[in-house]
Amino acid sequence: MAKIAFIGLGNMGGPMAANLCKAQHHVMAFDLSAPAVAAAVEKGAHKAASAAEAVKQAEIVITMLPAGKHVREVYEKDVLPNANKGTLLIDCSTIDVDSARHVAALAGKAGFEMIDAPVSGGVGGATAGTLTFMSGGPQASFDKARPILEKMGKNIVLAGPSGSGQAAKICNNMMLAISMIGVSEGFMLAKRLGLDFQRLFDIASTSSGQSWAMTNYCPVPGPVPTSPANRDYQAGFTAAMMLKDLLLAQQAANAVGASTPLGASAAQLFTLYVNSGHSAKDFSGIIQMLDGK
Ligand code: NAD
Repeated sequence: MAKIAFIGLGNMGGPMAANLCKAQHHVMAFDLSAPAVAAAVEKGAHKAASAAEAVKQAEIVITMLPAGKHVREVYEKDVLPNANKGTLLIDCSTIDVDSARHVAALAGKAGFEMIDAPVSGGVGGATAGTLTFMSGGPQASFDKARPILEKMGKNIVLAGPSGSGQAAKICNNMMLAISMIGVSEGFMLAKRLGLDFQRLFDIASTSSGQSWAMTNYCPVPGPVPTSPANRDYQAGFTAAMMLKDLLLAQQAANAVGASTPLGASAAQLFTLYVNSGHSAKDFSGIIQMLDGK
C-alpha cells in the first residue's frame, strides 16, 4: 500500500482521505485546521505536524486546497523542497489554469511527475467515493495516479497535458451555471404565465428544453425530490463555489480571447446573488433572485 501525504482536509479532502484510509493506504494528514486533522485521524489517517513532515515520508502527495495561491504556496514552500525523488504529485484543488501550469512546470523542473486532477461530484461524491476526476498531465503520470484516484472516484479521465483538468472543470461548470440560469428563467416565466411546475417539468424534461440542471437538480421544489430546492436551497454546491469557478472561466477566457458573453452574464448574476448574502446557499437558489426575492 502507498504512503500518501494528504494536504487540505476540508469538506472534500476529509472524505477523500478517509476513502484512501479505507483502502488500507498509509495516509499522513495535514491541514492548517486542527479539527480537520483530528477528523482525518479518526478515519484512520496519521497526523503530520506540518505539510513538510507529511511530504518527507510520502511516495504520493495529494493536495486539496481552496485556490491557486494556496497551491502555489504549499508547492513552493512545502512540497517541492521536501519531496523524495520519484514522488508522484497530484493536485485535486480547483484552481486557475495558469497556476496549475506554473506549479506543474516547477515540479517538472525539480524532476517530479505531476498531474492536475480537479473533481466533480461534491461532498456526496467525495464521501461515497464516486467523484469524477478530470486530469491534466503526461499519460504515464496519469496511469500511475489512476489506481489511487480509483479509490476516491468512479470516472477518471485524462483531458490532455498539464492544466487540461482545470480547463475541463471550468468549461463544464460555466456550462452548468448558464443552463441553471436558463432553467430558472423558464420556470419563473412559467409561474407568471400560470403554468404548473410539474406540468412544465413533464413537458420540458422530455422535450428540447431538457438539461442536467433541470432533470437532476431542478431549481423549483417538487419535480425532483432530491434537488436542493426541496430543502430551502441548502448546499449541495454553494453559490460561492460556483462564482469562484465562473470567475476562473472568465479569467481564462480573457487570457485566450474566447468570447463567452453568457459566461460573463452568469458571473455577474452569481456575483449579485453571493453579495446579497447567499454565498452559502446552493447555486440553484439563484432562481429566488431571478424571481425578485
Ligand atoms: P474547504 O475550504 O472545506 O477545505 C480546504 C481546506 O484547506 C481547509 O480545511 C483549509 O484549512 C485547508 N488549507 C488552506 N490552506 C492550507 C495550507 N496552506 N496548508 C494546509 N491546509 C490548508 O474546501 P473544499 O470544499 O474541501 O474544496 C477544496 C477544493 O475542491 C476547492 O478548490 C474547491 O473549489 C474544490 N471543489 C469543491 C467542491 C465542493 O462541493 N465543496 C466540489 C468540487 C471541487
